[in-house]
Amino acid sequence: FTKHPHDLENKTRAFLARQNHRMLIGGQWVDALENKRIEVENPAEETVIGSIPLAHPDDVNKAVSCAKSAFNGDDWGRMRPSARQNMLLKLADLIERDARIIAELEAIDNGKSAAIAEAVDISLGLEFFRYMAGWATKIEGSTLDVSMPFAPADSDFTAYTRREPVGVVAAIIPWNFPFLMACWKLAPALAAGCTVVLKPAEQTSLSALYLCELIGEANFPDGVVNIITGEGQSTGSALITHPDINKISFTGSTEVGQIIGRAAMDNMARVTLELGGKSPMIVLADCDPEKAAQGAAAAIFFNHGQTCSAGSRLYVHRSISDKVLDRLAELAEAIPLGPGLDPAAQMGPLVSRVQLDRVCRYIETGRQEGARLVTGGERADRKGYYVKPTIFATEDDSMVIAKDEIFGPVLVVIPFDDIEDVVDRANDSRYGLAASIWSNNLSQVQRLIPKLKAGTVWVNGHNMLDANIPFGGYKLSGVGRDMGKQSLDSYLETKSVVIAL
Ligand code: NAD
Repeated sequence: FTKHPHDLENKTRAFLARQNHRMLIGGQWVDALENKRIEVENPAEETVIGSIPLAHPDDVNKAVSCAKSAFNGDDWGRMRPSARQNMLLKLADLIERDARIIAELEAIDNGKSAAIAEAVDISLGLEFFRYMAGWATKIEGSTLDVSMPFAPADSDFTAYTRREPVGVVAAIIPWNFPFLMACWKLAPALAAGCTVVLKPAEQTSLSALYLCELIGEANFPDGVVNIITGEGQSTGSALITHPDINKISFTGSTEVGQIIGRAAMDNMARVTLELGGKSPMIVLADCDPEKAAQGAAAAIFFNHGQTCSAGSRLYVHRSISDKVLDRLAELAEAIPLGPGLDPAAQMGPLVSRVQLDRVCRYIETGRQEGARLVTGGERADRKGYYVKPTIFATEDDSMVIAKDEIFGPVLVVIPFDDIEDVVDRANDSRYGLAASIWSNNLSQVQRLIPKLKAGTVWVNGHNMLDANIPFGGYKLSGVGRDMGKQSLDSYLETKSVVIAL
């Protein structure tokens, strides 16, 4: 599965050597009922490296029932917030200890660079556990001043709100940041006092399974975190329609998010949806072309473009567009492709053949639509699902490649002349996840920020994330926010208490 198997950490090798992985339900590592399995593939080598259980709906029922018992049980339900905080901190320490192992699993399972995963995915994940651990002891309601208009004048009341954990959470995550997405869902749910059934993406379940081993080592009570592996249609559907799920937290495509949102409403489960994007970068005339090109290359090619907030539409002022485009092409052509375990590689293969075919189809569509192919535009000539970093230039942003989320290393560059016009064009999307503005013209930047319909606006950077900054979308990019205190709030109910004195 790698050019240098001997270089892997011992624990990574031992984990992979099991081959037939199991899921964690109620504190027990188990196979699926009927023992069906899904193959795990290494996308850099196009080889099968093991299998995960394909959970049967009855496995899902069992996991939900264990999560419900754990939620109602004393071990978790009556645990002091400071003890919950310490468990989360312990887990973060274990993640830090094993960061290299988790990064190697991501590289082998997802294709991304282990070095980048360790620096970005794993470190953001463990910092998020530490951040959320702090909130576990700071959950508070408010006291309310009340006077009932219909009550006698001499009557007194007192009222306050309590924040209570919402209950059993179904967390469903995609394959692009397998470990980080698991952290984004688990940390706030556990800090709030919820219990969780986690379903990772079928393409990339290994790092989440490893995380669950660390959860065991951190001594979380049985059933607080359960992980079921399997496909969306069977396993995922059984989970989202289960009547004992109190909240669904989903990251993935808009199409599946819509299905999940509807299912959640059937049971009035609370729901947060982090969905797709087609995020614009707007480079104003004063921006240094070198800085713009570097920024744009990072914004689209980070994680091979398989990033929900990827800067996939680049609006650049016509006065500097040629310079930016030329430099961008140089940068794209210089990106070293290679397996995630190769320390020199910056871009790995796409996650799967399905994703490779999808991205190649979009590239073909771009050609047929008449966009100018500046660089890339094809599979790399090697084993593995590699696509060359690809840049199209066009004046016409109504093209499919400028509208659809491609979710691959494909950038569309569009020159603009007028700043008002570019705002309308940037906003003319069914998505509204993120946007970035590149300029030091303070007045123009400040005027643009409120006009952009996006959950995050970055200035002179892109994909700048921190545990304390809420992340989520406008429009079809989703409902609710991950990260920040807002994320914790979405795992809490508000109970109003009114007492007649
Ligand atoms: P996907 O929607 O196909 O799958 C995501 C998860 O949902 C997987 O675990 C899958 O098994 C499950 N699933 C699929 N169908 C289901 C169903 N009917 N019921 C229940 N579960 C189901 O998405 P993907 O292709 O894995 O991921 C790519 C998408 O995720 C992109 O659109 C990307 O923009 C989005 N994404 C968004 C964010 C964000 O924070 N907004 C972050 C990362 C990825």
